[in-house]
Amino acid sequence: MPELPEVEIVARRLNDALRGAAIESAVAPGINALKTFDPPLAALAGREVAAVGRRGKNLVVRIDGLRGGDGAGPPLALLIHLMSAGRLQLYGKRAGPRDRTSRLLVRLHDGRELRLREFGSKQAAWVKLLRAEELERDEALAKLGPEAWPDPPEPSGLGELLRAPRPLHALLRDQRTIAGIGRSWVDEILWGAQLSPFKRGGDLQGEDLGRLREAIVTTLGGAIEHYERTVSLPIPDKLPMPLRVHRHEGEPCPRCGTKLQAVHFEDYIIAYCPHCQTDGRVLKDRRMLRLLK
Ligand SMILES: [Zn+2]
Repeated sequence: MPELPEVEIVARRLNDALRGAAIESAVAPGINALKTFDPPLAALAGREVAAVGRRGKNLVVRIDGLRGGDGAGPPLALLIHLMSAGRLQLYGKRAGPRDRTSRLLVRLHDGRELRLREFGSKQAAWVKLLRAEELERDEALAKLGPEAWPDPPEPSGLGELLRAPRPLHALLRDQRTIAGIGRSWVDEILWGAQLSPFKRGGDLQGEDLGRLREAIVTTLGGAIEHYERTVSLPIPDKLPMPLRVHRHEGEPCPRCGTKLQAVHFEDYIIAYCPHCQTDGRVLKDRRMLRLLK
C-alpha cells in the first residue's frame, strides 16, 4: 500500500520526467476508475503537464490551461488515488495493447505514455479530472487533515488533532486527522516514538507529543531519503519499503533486542515492541479489535 513516502517519490520522479510534456490523448479503459465526466478526458489533448505533486496519499498531475481559439480552457488537474494496488508508471514507448490492469492511459506527443495500472483482483484505484480551481474543494482533499510531512503540526496542535478516545494506531491512520500515514508507516512511527499503538490519543502527555512529532518527521523523511537514493525511473511495481518493525514480528527489536510482537486483524497487522512500547505487555490476540474501529 503506497503511503506518503512512496507517493512522494513517485510524484518527484514523474515531475522531473513529465514537466512540460505535451499530451496527445487520454483514455480510461477501467470501467470504474474514472470518477468524473466533466471535463471529459478529451480535454487533455493538446495541453502540457505543468507539475506532478502529492497531497496526502493522492497524486496530483497539474495540467496547463489552453489560451485562445476554440480549444481555450482553464488549467486542469488529474487527482489519482492508488489505493492498495495501483501504480502510476511512465513508459518509454507505447506499452503494447491495453491489458486488464490498465485504468488510465495518457499518451504524450513524444511517444511516452503515462499509465495507471492496478494489480490484484479489486478495482479500487481511482482518477478524477477536475478544473484546477475545484481541486482543493474536491471531497477527497477537502476532508484531509494537515500533511504529516514535512511539517506536521507542533506538539500542541498535534495534541488537539489526536484528542480523541481512540487508539493512536487508528487515529494516525485516519486521513481526516493527519494526511499520509497508513498501515505500514504507523508501526514504524509509534515504535520510533516509543508509544503504544493502543494508547488513547486523549491520554497523550506533552512529552509524548514531542516524541511523536519527531518520530513522524524523521520516519517519513528517512523513508523519502532512502527512496531518493534507491528509486529511479522506471519505478518498480513493488517498491521495497525500508521497514524495521512492520512485518518484522518475531524478530529482535532494532533498539532493545526484545522479540517484536504483532496483533493480527482481518486486513492489517499491528507490530510493536513490548519493551519499548507497551510496558512489557504482550497483546497478541484480537481483544483490542473493538477499540480500533
Ligand atoms: Zn524494543
